[in-house]
Amino acid sequence: MSQTQTKDESSLNELDPNWRNDALDLGLDYGMQTIAVRAGQHRTDEGEHSEPIFTTSSYVYTSASDAAAHFDGTKTGNVYSRHTNPSVRTFERRLAALENGERAVATASGMGAILTMCLAYLKAGDHLLAANQLFGSSIGLFDNYMAKFGVEVSYVDCFDNEAWASAVQSNTKVIYCESPSNPLAQICDIGYLSELCKANDILLVVDNCFATPALQRPLELGADVVIHSATKYLDGQGRVLGGALVGSDKLMQEAFTVVRSGGISMSPFNAWVFTKGLETLKLRMQAHCANANQVAEFLVRHPNVSKVHFSGLSDHPSHELTKRQHHMKDGYGAIMGFEVKPSDSGDSHGFNAKVAAWHVIDSTQMVSITNNLGDAKTTITHPATTTHFRLSPEARAEAGVEDSLIRLSVGLEDVEDIIKDLARGLDSL
Ligand SMILES: *Cc1c(COP(=O)(O)O)cnc(C)c1O
Repeated sequence: MSQTQTKDESSLNELDPNWRNDALDLGLDYGMQTIAVRAGQHRTDEGEHSEPIFTTSSYVYTSASDAAAHFDGTKTGNVYSRHTNPSVRTFERRLAALENGERAVATASGMGAILTMCLAYLKAGDHLLAANQLFGSSIGLFDNYMAKFGVEVSYVDCFDNEAWASAVQSNTKVIYCESPSNPLAQICDIGYLSELCKANDILLVVDNCFATPALQRPLELGADVVIHSATKYLDGQGRVLGGALVGSDKLMQEAFTVVRSGGISMSPFNAWVFTKGLETLKLRMQAHCANANQVAEFLVRHPNVSKVHFSGLSDHPSHELTKRQHHMKDGYGAIMGFEVKPSDSGDSHGFNAKVAAWHVIDSTQMVSITNNLGDAKTTITHPATTTHFRLSPEARAEAGVEDSLIRLSVGLEDVEDIIKDLARGLDSL
């Protein structure tokens, strides 16, 4: 494979922004882990084994007429790194292959990908129908900016299929959800939403940040566009910001034009970090999920935990749906919410949910108190006073973000140490 592969890949020097996802030029009989390690590589004449970083803002032409040909469209190729960059393209091709999409478009951050989605697929007068359980900044973008440009926005419970159906309007153009969602790890029925969208000429956009293609491929379940905050698990070690959209050639061309015109482009260095991150994504997700399953079992049995929001638990209402949508056995993701409540506190005896939650967080010695997630390091946060602080109390309540809620992103440390660290505060409530 590798010799012909190298030749073919070199010719991609000439490829234009319209390249297709032929990362599966590896051959359809290759497995996902092979694709994660090898797809999309752009090997130069130097014969480097690892993927290089192309830190260049522009590109040279062989002559004035060659330059002109790049601009009038008779010749395709790199022009400027706001448009295309070989390191960014390698990441895009590898991610597209892993999501089983035709093409990916990389962006400067996850929010950059969501903004690109809005600018590409919505205009004034359109309706954006979204799940009410979303990353806080997504809600901010929709409410403060899309609304400002005349897009109507409304929200429904992501797990309530009937609510979705009855909220569809004649001007609904995009349905937007996360599954699992932030911070309560709620699950959308992507297949159902896909049918609903197809029947009503709506685009289904799924933020796959929490599951990653290692656990779930929304395009295979009927979604039109997948959104990523690559900042999270795709990097997996909390180093750089980035995002991406994945979907059909046609939809990605529309997104690409927005990124190029708006300057929402990914840096080549960040693209390189993500490309290398994808190589170990599945192995890391397996380890994250195994740890998360054990942490959830510990929390569920703890007398001072009143509720655990994690669809890996067999009595979770979306447990079976998650099993159907996720293709890794016992892989439910590694982000969960849990609510604290001392078992002997009567509601009226001065129990202060925020004080109790903060006590658990402040009693940890190892896990990081930070709002980031999807990191090798376990992170803990109090959504009501951090990530979801800017929402109105009503919006917070609607999103299920109680003062007693703690969000945990289970990392790759020894699981015994994670559990011991959480027990410090829980045991002494
Ligand atoms: C972090 C996050 C985003 C935004 O990504 P950034 O890279 O921080 O811009 C979007 N969606 C979800 C689910 C996230 O967790």
